[in-house]
Amino acid sequence: MFGLSDKEASYIKTIEKLGGSNVRLRDLAKEMGVSTPSALEEVRHLMAKGLVFNNHGQIELTSKGKNALETLRRAHIALETIFAKQGLTGEEACGEIHTFDYAVPEHLVQKLYEAAGRPMLCPKGKAEC
Ligand SMILES: [Zn+2]
Repeated sequence: MFGLSDKEASYIKTIEKLGGSNVRLRDLAKEMGVSTPSALEEVRHLMAKGLVFNNHGQIELTSKGKNALETLRRAHIALETIFAKQGLTGEEACGEIHTFDYAVPEHLVQKLYEAAGRPMLCPKGKAEC
């Protein structure tokens, strides 16, 4: 997989935030601030990519979806760690990194993660930020 789109990343992060399984479409739509038909359209797109499946009307992340989230988390933490070494820290850096972390190809995420020293936590000591 060569990275996620901004929209795909937002949806799978939100599905995870809502529990990662047994997520109702209307709850997902509400959390994303979109109509139910819009959310359904994106869920169908995520299903076609194998990132989620629809379990009798309840949305669940697949193992591929969970792996994509873990890759995204590693990309974010690795970039924050590398930029922190250059003196760039804080909410602004975190926010800026969120604007492109999802687009980093998976094979490059692994290189970044190793270059950053395989960090478990971001420079602020959090596992997710
Ligand atoms: Zn962050």
